Amino acid sequence: MSEEALKDESLKIDYTPPQKDWMEPSAEFRKGTYGYPGSSKHEKYLELPNPREWQPTEKDWKLPENWKETILRGMKDRLGRYRSFRLFLDICVRCGACADKCHFFIGSGDPKNMPVLRTELLRSVYRKYFTLSGKVFGKLAGARALTEDVLKEWFYYFFQCTECRRCSVFCPYGIDTCEITMMARELLSLVGCNINWIVEPASNSYRTGNHLGIPPHAFKSTVDFAIDEIKEITGIQVEVPINRKGAEILFIAPSADYFASPHWYTFLGYLLLFHEIGLDYTWSTYASEGGNFGLFHSADLAKRLNAKIYSEAKRLKVKWALGGECGHMWRVIHQFMDTFSGPADFLEEPISPVTGTHFDNAKSTKMVHICEFTADLIKSNKLKLDPSRNDKWKVTYHDSCNISRGMGLLEEPRYILQKVCKEFYEMPEHTIKERTFCCGSGAGLGSDENMETRLRGGLPRANAVKYVKEQYGVNLLTCICAIDKATLPPLLEYWVPGVEVAGVHELVGNALVVRGEKERTTNLRGEPLTEL
Ligand code: SF4
Ligand code: SF4
Repeated sequence: MSEEALKDESLKIDYTPPQKDWMEPSAEFRKGTYGYPGSSKHEKYLELPNPREWQPTEKDWKLPENWKETILRGMKDRLGRYRSFRLFLDICVRCGACADKCHFFIGSGDPKNMPVLRTELLRSVYRKYFTLSGKVFGKLAGARALTEDVLKEWFYYFFQCTECRRCSVFCPYGIDTCEITMMARELLSLVGCNINWIVEPASNSYRTGNHLGIPPHAFKSTVDFAIDEIKEITGIQVEVPINRKGAEILFIAPSADYFASPHWYTFLGYLLLFHEIGLDYTWSTYASEGGNFGLFHSADLAKRLNAKIYSEAKRLKVKWALGGECGHMWRVIHQFMDTFSGPADFLEEPISPVTGTHFDNAKSTKMVHICEFTADLIKSNKLKLDPSRNDKWKVTYHDSCNISRGMGLLEEPRYILQKVCKEFYEMPEHTIKERTFCCGSGAGLGSDENMETRLRGGLPRANAVKYVKEQYGVNLLTCICAIDKATLPPLLEYWVPGVEVAGVHELVGNALVVRGEKERTTNLRGEPLTEL
């Protein structure tokens, strides 16, 4: 089948409800729709329960003998510990306002991808074992027993939720299906049902400090390589301090920024910016990862990974931390860090050393977002910018879910983009800011084996990009999340060829006029400026 025919076929989405009662478990582990299970090597490293080799397509999942008791005990424990968990299970009135808001439902037509029904998969078990009506009336009260097939269905559908929280924006009761997914994944993990694209990055973070498993000497080599590239493009010799005790600021970025493409150009942008303003800062090889794949597994693992940032800030005796273009790092910092590892009273309230601005919003976490920092520099006229160096691009901006809904950072990236490039266009209103559509590959779903699910889940985002491409000729989608930078290129290549992906600080690095630089002939990608 040709690529065009395949695309046409993928767009024939059948929204007809199936004949089968939703209470009957229905997980079909078809190639392309699920992630590989966690490898026992990484699970052992993280000391997770029931490490083993198994496959979701096999009948026997090698569950522990007491798997059912373990799950129900885990559920009871969490119902006691998390008020929101019980509340979200109790108060849904099934109004359906969330039903068509999930990108996985829009892209697949599978009703079990409706947020309300996704939650019912777990809520039905809750009713059966933890409510009087469920115990007495069973199915009539929407209750069903926990069986192996139900567990398999949980695994399938709770790893088809990117924990993006779009549905919660539309729920009149504020029910956050993401939190239900988080609980379901924790329960699955108690009996060893994990996916590898979560446990492997998390275990890599334990071993080497970052998800990609880059050891300290390789980190140093990659930094040296970046220094050479910057010298070639700008004639400027930047210094990049690593593990420097007593620096004012600890800078933390996702590891993909210094290893993957197009992230790399964002990395060059950071280094140029820090050089230009003479920032007293340091990178760390121990906390060489901003992202936190633990968040997609359990609160416990998220806490263990988050603690690294703060213990390193303490060891290096910095005053505060600055964070790069990352998604879930910010969700963890803003929503969970204080409970996990806070308060970070040993750090100081962040103040920009260049503008004197107090970042009051970071009073508690002591960590400032790079876009807040850069927007403040621009607003205070501290940077000389030449937006014509980005004339190649007609730019739009994708609000990463964790930054927009998890943190409320909406205006700063837009402000920066409007200063560093000449043509900026917004996607349709219902697809941006709090209502942004997910890339379809977050929360551990970004693996290659899961590509059909990713392309279907990313369809609404891609459609909005297609709209601005056709209306205004947009050819660049910018974003500030490492997962987005990794997963949007294949998504756009499939649905909207001709649109590239970049970080906001790549465009900052292009436009930034650095004191003493030679005449620039290329952008940070090495593409000639004269031919733009
Ligand atoms: S919008 Fe809220 S109350 Fe309505 S069905 Fe969805 S989760 Fe339930
Ligand atoms: S959190 Fe996102 S992926 Fe999960 S059900 Fe809601 S809209 Fe869908």
